[in-house]
Amino acid sequence: MYINILFSHSSVLAVKTVPVGTARLTSLCRVRGHSVAPSKAAVSGIQNMKSLPYFCRGEVVQGFGRGSKELGIPTANFPDSVVDNLPADISTGIYYGWACIGNGDVHKMVMSIGWNPYYKNTKKSMETHIIHKFKEDFYGQTLSVVLVSYIRSEKSFPSLEDLIAAINSDIEEAKVQLELPEHSQLKEDNFFTSTTNSSPVSSSSAASTSQSIINGH
Ligand code: ADP
Ligand code: MG
Repeated sequence: MYINILFSHSSVLAVKTVPVGTARLTSLCRVRGHSVAPSKAAVSGIQNMKSLPYFCRGEVVQGFGRGSKELGIPTANFPDSVVDNLPADISTGIYYGWACIGNGDVHKMVMSIGWNPYYKNTKKSMETHIIHKFKEDFYGQTLSVVLVSYIRSEKSFPSLEDLIAAINSDIEEAKVQLELPEHSQLKEDNFFTSTTNSSPVSSSSAASTSQSIINGH
């Protein structure tokens, strides 16, 4: 188990990987109340994501400016340095997990990773909707997240209303799944209280440290 901290010129990125078993998939099916086995594709999809739970952090940057906030679903965007460092086994799609801003409280979140087929993006993004009402925007602050598990693949929708309905359904699923003991314990992970989380993110720190590996807990 380790934490890998990487400073780039515009952001700080911390990645921690921990060993993971198959209990997550079993519980996912239990909570959903499935009486049938999940599809082979779903099983192999999650089992192949050896990097989950995946911890990372970076500066919140301007996104695509599509007014997601006005739709009630703002998404905090990570810079390219964070997106480009995603392990290969973390495929595009919708994930749920935990998130915090700076050294604030840890909240449930859903994250979209990919090209967002509805908007036909040409740039891969990681967009986090934190399931919490904030009084103010937090551009420029440090967003720390742990991707806990996968909800679904990316897909396009016939209308904006359908896209919003799908996201709201993802949010409801995330709220339920994250109550599972093996998922809720990640909220308490010391990744969210580590000193780097409250450190200012600046270009100057980037210049002095290119990469460092810190032993995890
Ligand atoms: P952009 O296109 O710049 O990403 P959005 O409309 O998606 O704009 O709004 C995202 C911004 O809204 C975030 O960067 C953050 O500053 C702010 N914000 C406020 N509340 C939330 C929230 N609950 N989850 C994510 N971002 C939020
Ligand atoms: Mg956004």
